Amino acid sequence: MEYDFATIIEPFRIHSVEPLRLTSPAQRAEAIRLAGYNLFNLRAQDVLIDLLTDSGTGAMSRDQWAAIQHGDESYAGSPSWFRFEAAVKELFPFRHVIPTHQGRAAEKILFTAIGGVGKVVPNNTHFDTTRANVEATGAEALDLVIAEGHDPSLIHPFKGNMDVDALDAVLDRHATNVPLVMVTVTNNSGGGQPVSMANLRAVSETCQRHGVPLFLDACRFAENAWFIHEREPGYGEREVADIVREMASLADGMTMSAKKDPFGNIGGWLALNDDALAEQCRNLLILTEGFPTYGGLAGRDLEALAQGLREAVQHDYLRYRIRSTAYLGDALDRAGVPVVKPIGGHAVYIDARALLAHVAPLRYPGQSLAVALYEAGGVRSVEIGSVMFGRRPDGGEQPAAMELVRLAIPRRTYTQSHIDYVIEVVTSVARDASSLPGYRMVHEPAALRHFTARFEPIV
Ligand SMILES: *Cc1c(COP(=O)(O)O)cnc(C)c1O
Repeated sequence: MEYDFATIIEPFRIHSVEPLRLTSPAQRAEAIRLAGYNLFNLRAQDVLIDLLTDSGTGAMSRDQWAAIQHGDESYAGSPSWFRFEAAVKELFPFRHVIPTHQGRAAEKILFTAIGGVGKVVPNNTHFDTTRANVEATGAEALDLVIAEGHDPSLIHPFKGNMDVDALDAVLDRHATNVPLVMVTVTNNSGGGQPVSMANLRAVSETCQRHGVPLFLDACRFAENAWFIHEREPGYGEREVADIVREMASLADGMTMSAKKDPFGNIGGWLALNDDALAEQCRNLLILTEGFPTYGGLAGRDLEALAQGLREAVQHDYLRYRIRSTAYLGDALDRAGVPVVKPIGGHAVYIDARALLAHVAPLRYPGQSLAVALYEAGGVRSVEIGSVMFGRRPDGGEQPAAMELVRLAIPRRTYTQSHIDYVIEVVTSVARDASSLPGYRMVHEPAALRHFTARFEPIV
C-alpha cells in the first residue's frame, strides 16, 4: 500500500536544546512597565516565545556548525570568502559581491553612493531600515505596492507586487532623479507577501525603458521563490534555486540581510553588476565595514552562510517553512482573529486596526495589542504600524497605511506545541480586545523611533 499523508513534518530532528524560562503574569506586567511598554526594551530572558523577528534568530544546522570549524580568519583572500562568494553567485550571479555585517550596512553603503537630496527611490514597500537609510541621505522613499497590498483581508496570490503603471508614471516624471528602483521580496512590511515573476519582469522592463537600474531587497528570496513555485503558472516543476536565478537575472543588483533566509545569526551583502558603482561601494565598505574579502564578517560567519544558502533553497525545508507559518495564521483566522491574508512567508500579521477599532491609529492599536500578548502569555511580537512608520521626515506624525502586529517565526526554532500555545494566547487576548487601552509616546528618538521609544497606557 502507498499512503498519501497530509501531515507536513519538520524535516529535521532536535540535536541541541535551549531552556525557556517561564514567568508569572505579575512578573511580566512589571517587566513591560520597566521597558516603557516597548517590547524591544525587554530582556529576552523575560520572554517565553520570541516572535519579535525572524532575523538572526533561526537555528543553524549541524552542517553550518561544522562549516564554522572551517572558518579561515585570514585578513585578505581567505578561502572562506571564496566559498561564500561562490555560494552567493550560484544563486545570484552578479559580477560584484560585497560582504557586510548585516543588511542595513549594505543599504547604508548603497544609498550613500547613489542617494541624496532631490532623489526619489521607489520600492514596493520600503522596509524600516531601508526607508531610514534612503531618507538619511535626504532622498525620498516612495512605496508603490499594488492597491490590493493595502487591503489586509483581500486574497491575492502576489500581494507584494509593485504597481507597474504607478512606477512608469514616476519614472516619466522623475527618471533623472531616480538612482534605482527596489523591489522587496517578500514584501516584509506589507505582510510578508510575495512578488510574482511576471511582476518582477514587468518592473524590470519598465526600468530598462527608462534606463534606471533595478535592485532586489532580497532578504526572503527563497520564500518568495517557493510562493512562485506554488502559485505562478509555469513554475510548479522548476527548482527553487533555478527560480531564484531567474529573479536575479531580472535585476542589476541586490541588498541582502543574511539573517533571514540564509540562516545566519549575522551577515549580509550588496551585490551588483556596475563596475564603477561597485568600486565606489567598496571604498565606502573599507571605511566602516572592513576589507572587501570579509566586509563586516568573520571567516567562520562566511562559512556558515555559504552552507545556509544551500539549505535555504531545499524544497522539503521550504514546504515545511511556509506550511508552518500558515498553520498559525489559519488557526487564528478560524478563531475569528483578523489577519493579513493570504498568510505570508515568515510571519503572521494581525490586523490591529480591525481588532482594536476603539483605539485611534495615533493611540497605537498595534502597540497596545503587542503589549497585551506579552502580558498575557509572554509572547513577544512587534508593531508594524504608526509607531514604526507614523513619523514624517519633517517631524510630524501621520497614521501608517495599516496597523499590524507581526508574529515572526524564527526558522527551525519552535515546535508545533509552541505554536499551539501562541494560538491560545492570541485568541484569548483577541476575545477581550475591546478592553485594551491606547498608548501615548512619552519619549521619541529622532530616527527609527520604534526601537527605543517609551510609552504610557492611556487609562
Ligand atoms: C531585515 C531586513 C532588512 C535589513 O537587514 P538587517 O540585517 O536587519 O540590517 C532590509 N530589508 C528587509 C526586507 C528586511 O527584512
